[in-house]
Amino acid sequence: MNSWVHKMFQYFCGNRNLAGIPKRLESAEVVKTIKEAKVAEVVKAIKEAKVVKVIKEEIMINKDFLKTNSGKITHCIMHHSTTKDGLLTNDWEAIDVYHRSFRINWNIIVRPVTDLVILDDIKNKINNEYIKINESWYNKDKVEKFYKQAGALIGEELYVGQYVGTYVKNTKIETSWRAIGYNLGVERDCGRIQIKYGRSLIEKGAHCYQEDMNNHSIGWLIVGNYDIGYPDIDLWEFCIKAAKEIKKEFPKIKFLGHREVEGVKKSCPGELWDMKQFRKDLKAKR
Ligand SMILES: [Zn+2]
Repeated sequence: MNSWVHKMFQYFCGNRNLAGIPKRLESAEVVKTIKEAKVAEVVKAIKEAKVVKVIKEEIMINKDFLKTNSGKITHCIMHHSTTKDGLLTNDWEAIDVYHRSFRINWNIIVRPVTDLVILDDIKNKINNEYIKINESWYNKDKVEKFYKQAGALIGEELYVGQYVGTYVKNTKIETSWRAIGYNLGVERDCGRIQIKYGRSLIEKGAHCYQEDMNNHSIGWLIVGNYDIGYPDIDLWEFCIKAAKEIKKEFPKIKFLGHREVEGVKKSCPGELWDMKQFRKDLKAKR
């Protein structure tokens, strides 16, 4: 199996833990492998709210799952990104942070404090200030405040950790997701088109609930807004090539635009992303 297709199956994927060192780490202040990290140093950096990343070195692939479950993947659902993330860009990492944040009306209220893999021996030291929900860490006070605010809007008392994903009086209230909702991304990053890894295919996705697609499809995000611009030709070709690789591993897989799934009222992956042409190019020999 092609190695990057493989990577989509890794445990608790998300570019924060096991997917290798993502590009933007170059700008992080502290980059350590778990072996190198000194506990005191990491705790200090968290308290000072510096960007800290501790990356596990090995990439874990659940090969048994691959054998038994890859047959369940019937579709690849293609998306584009129009997510408002409150930062300057709508890049893959920003979408990852957005999905793992607490949101009200699409605005981030509480974002994860760090992408750190918290080591057991520092857990006790930081437990008073930080709280782990799903796979991410948050400032405890801010999370409690969020639940109070959300509870007031809903008219109920909420407990921290309770899942909320609801509309109340035109207000959209969402608690953090366990990981970015997509399994796979393609993005032009620093001029180079790159594959990005998201939620493991071992888990249920969070990108298309219609027709139960989250349970039997690959969620593929192409970063960019194709409602307002055509995809660049090199990006298009890259995606065709990537789709061919996916097809090699999942021969019966069907590529659908999000909008083509019954019940979806979006233009996703954008009005200017031609799905018919995509499938045509995918079939072509060259
Ligand atoms: Zn979509």
